[in-house]
Amino acid sequence: MSVTIASIYPEAFFAVRELRAVGHEGEGGYRTTYNLAAAPRDGDPEILVVDDAYERVYISDNQYDDRFTKAEDIAKKLIRQWTGDMWQVGEGQAGIWICAGPLPTAEEKARHTAAQEQMFEGLAKHGEALFASHEPPPEICKKAVLWLDPNAAATHPWVKERKKQDLKKCPLCKKLVEQDAIFCEHCNQQIAALPAHLNFSNPATPAAPLPPPIKSPTVTGPTGVPMSVGQSKSTPVPLGA
Ligand SMILES: [Zn+2]
Repeated sequence: MSVTIASIYPEAFFAVRELRAVGHEGEGGYRTTYNLAAAPRDGDPEILVVDDAYERVYISDNQYDDRFTKAEDIAKKLIRQWTGDMWQVGEGQAGIWICAGPLPTAEEKARHTAAQEQMFEGLAKHGEALFASHEPPPEICKKAVLWLDPNAAATHPWVKERKKQDLKKCPLCKKLVEQDAIFCEHCNQQIAALPAHLNFSNPATPAAPLPPPIKSPTVTGPTGVPMSVGQSKSTPVPLGA
């Protein structure tokens, strides 16, 4: 017997399991690889046919046994491994499922597309919230946003793929920021001079030189104890503390 796993997920899945195909008993080679390609946004689901197999089971003291395992059970284990049971939808998870027949139906695809959309909307919100609080959103949030809207990079700056040459290290927190960044998106500190047309700090002398950029993430307080820059600026340091 065999079952078909279908996926509309935008990432590839891969697994190696200690399984041997039925009909090849006694030939060794307990390694079966399972591959599912990343599915295109509006194309057909990717499919993977899984067969019944013998699973190598450890008994004791270098003793192993062959355990017959049904295709459906292997498929369930693969889906669990790949998705971590993140978002259950009937016989599978959002975007990846065991087909009722040999091929995915239009109804199955529609149901899983709706579930994946809902899951990705949650991931997109999560990514947006992280970005707003200056945390780098994980890749899956970016993929979710791009799956929902392939043109999202135009409206979501954090979704855009960053190239190494476009980045520099923040001199304070050492995290990567855009080459032309004036404020660091991670530590919120000013790391470069404001362009003259944006510098309103002293309108009477617009050409006044800017203070030198801060070079170190810490400054030394009156007691010699380092204080973090940009935090608790108004906290008085008690004398003799
Ligand atoms: Zn920084």
